Amino acid sequence: MNILWNDQIVAKESIIIDPEDRGYQFGDGIYEVVAIYNGELFEWEAHYERFLRSAAALSISTQHIIEKLKSNIHTLIEENSVEDGYVYFQLTRGTAPRFHAYPAEAVPPVLTGLVKKKDTTNPPPSSMKAITTEDIRWLRVDIKSLNLLPNCMAKQKAIEAGVHEAIFIRDQVVTEASSSNLFGVKNGKLYTHPLNHLILNGITRQVVLRLASQLNLPVIEEAFTKEALYLMDEVFITNTGVNVCPVTEIDATQIGNGSCGVITASLMKAFSELLSPKIKV
Ligand code: PMP
Repeated sequence: MNILWNDQIVAKESIIIDPEDRGYQFGDGIYEVVAIYNGELFEWEAHYERFLRSAAALSISTQHIIEKLKSNIHTLIEENSVEDGYVYFQLTRGTAPRFHAYPAEAVPPVLTGLVKKKDTTNPPPSSMKAITTEDIRWLRVDIKSLNLLPNCMAKQKAIEAGVHEAIFIRDQVVTEASSSNLFGVKNGKLYTHPLNHLILNGITRQVVLRLASQLNLPVIEEAFTKEALYLMDEVFITNTGVNVCPVTEIDATQIGNGSCGVITASLMKAFSELLSPKIKV
């Protein structure tokens, strides 16, 4: 398998990650996951913008990779013959003797990227069950940093509870989930946590907000409580892996009638129509 290594495409086995890479030691880096449909990157501009914003928030230089990033990722897609799948790429601050503050002398950041073909033998679930869990993450989760331990712990808790996803609750309100944004539907209106430092500005969330506006669905970007979550008519999550997926049970409480709701279904349909010119038939 070939991967992206700074500005080159090389065999995965040929690279060496320095044990003093700050991504490895401190989680000092950022990443993106972009879906590939029919060999094309979905919502590239939005992902790229978020990547640059995360880098700027952490003062990680992107200068050396900016120019060729997209074309290198396209080469990677072609070389690995990926039609549908995703690309994961990450940028760490680079390698320096271990010391918490950023290196006084700038070191070259380290970019790695790999593509994965869509796993047709293991498609994403058509609906999900979830648990809630305390949001113990830091207060800048708008930065898409490599520090994902609280997310990993939450997802592990969900798996051990026999469900798919863990929904974060901070100060009594629903923020998002361990690897997705969350929407509730009540009386025909969509509810989701407002964009701030407590959630990731999900690219799929952005697409869903656009589709909701096209479908004339009112959206209220306001935090709501766990109790309000249980009482929603519909709940769904959004991310690059599943796009839109209904959540039919939370903490063993049935949501709505326990199946995919009509508004969720209409957004899923609009999403697949958006993708249909991109998916080869
Ligand atoms: N929130 C969190 C915590 C996530 O990890 C993700 C997936 N990266 C999302 C939201 C959804 O983001 P996107 O729609 O850009 O995949």
